[in-house]
Amino acid sequence: MALSQDLIDILACPKCKGTIRLEKDQSGFVCETCKLFYPVVDDIPNFLIEEARPWSGAGSGTGTGEPAPA
Ligand SMILES: [Zn+2]
Repeated sequence: MALSQDLIDILACPKCKGTIRLEKDQSGFVCETCKLFYPVVDDIPNFLIEEARPWSGAGSGTGTGEPAPA
């Protein structure tokens, strides 16, 4: 079962109440404001701030990602 876009649209970051986005592989949600990653386990998003992981940003200067657009 995939997460529905309708569900994703109403979800918000529990910390800043801002917009979150689903990772391409649906492994979790990212809040780019808080730089937090909320994992999805068994199709259930885990929005506990205490269990969120730091998110460094894909391809944003870690040395292994894509170069930032000019
Ligand atoms: Zn946030």
